[in-house]
Amino acid sequence: MPTRLPEFSELRFVEAASTGTVHFTVYVPSWLEPEGESVPLADGTGRALAALLEAPTVVRCGRRTFPNSPSSDAAHQFTDCFDDERLCGGCYRTLHEDDQALAFEHRQPGERSENCKA
Ligand SMILES: [Zn+2]
Repeated sequence: MPTRLPEFSELRFVEAASTGTVHFTVYVPSWLEPEGESVPLADGTGRALAALLEAPTVVRCGRRTFPNSPSSDAAHQFTDCFDDERLCGGCYRTLHEDDQALAFEHRQPGERSENCKA
């Protein structure tokens, strides 16, 4: 049985360009993280940014994705607009039933909102 997510957690959706499948990772607000686990991001050299861009985002089903890649033909990208049926079942099944509604808190292409097309 999956455990509940911390309160105020948000899902970050990651679309795989090759398949259209949308995976997700869980974002926990930094003020909820235990003390002492934050890593300074900027050291002025650009190394931190480079590390961020190259670090995989491991989605809930275990896949390594690279949505931070600046490349326009990147294999993955963050999205908040997709049809429900594109949601990754493997990711979805990691959610506790009381958290599953979070997986549907995204825009749908049919809503005619800006920058949201199928
Ligand atoms: Zn997945």
